[in-house]
Amino acid sequence: MVEPLSTHFRPLRGSLMPAFEGLAAPPSEHLVAAEIEARTVPGDVVIELHGRGAWVTRSALDRLRRVYDIESIGLTRLQAELVLRPPDVRHLDAAVNSLAVHLRAGVGLRSAILASFTSRCAACGRPVIVEEFIWPGEGDAPSHKTYRCEVCGGRGRSSVGLTVSVDDEDVRAAREMGRAPPAAREFLRARFPTPESGHPLPGQLVDLYSPRSLEAFALLVERLETDLRAPPIEAALRLAVAHMLLPGSRLNRHPGRAA
Ligand SMILES: [Zn+2]
Repeated sequence: MVEPLSTHFRPLRGSLMPAFEGLAAPPSEHLVAAEIEARTVPGDVVIELHGRGAWVTRSALDRLRRVYDIESIGLTRLQAELVLRPPDVRHLDAAVNSLAVHLRAGVGLRSAILASFTSRCAACGRPVIVEEFIWPGEGDAPSHKTYRCEVCGGRGRSSVGLTVSVDDEDVRAAREMGRAPPAAREFLRARFPTPESGHPLPGQLVDLYSPRSLEAFALLVERLETDLRAPPIEAALRLAVAHMLLPGSRLNRHPGRAA
């Protein structure tokens, strides 16, 4: 009979955002705990020199060691903040709600973002919030949209995964947004450090997003950088924005492209 594997080698890992899967996958908790127990005693100092989210540091703290964690990447520094000091969910919930209702030019932030995703139900004609606009490979406007209609229960996405065609107003709005002054695009593009001014890469990166997505990201980033919050809450909100970057981009795997 085969002996079961030692618990030390079973890969028990913490939950993980997809963005960290390749960058900073957490080590096996059992393995880290065993190493710490084998090499140190309570009160010793454990230094995580090449931190990737402070998983080793947290395990050492749990075992009454004194710790240092050195994170060299901004993204994993945010994760370390959450791993070491997870925020109270109620506080996080309150922070998200306060962000959503924050007034900007007389309109709440959530309403300002949703305004550009507003459309009409193809069945009953009432206003709906579009979950996805699907773009063809080429073109200056989306071809389909998906949504849920709270009035008639109509769904843009049918049971076989088809979507509803956009209407003339959707096409007009998309073209108008494409022609609008790219203030949001410039605001985001200017944030990328480059070895020389005028480097094309930042422009190529922001062009992975549709004008309406860029506007939403610019609004969120502006708000996140303005308000003062507890560091773990701030880290959680920034990671939430990072989490949206891939699904919101043209790299998102889809028959067309969503935005
Ligand atoms: Zn409807």
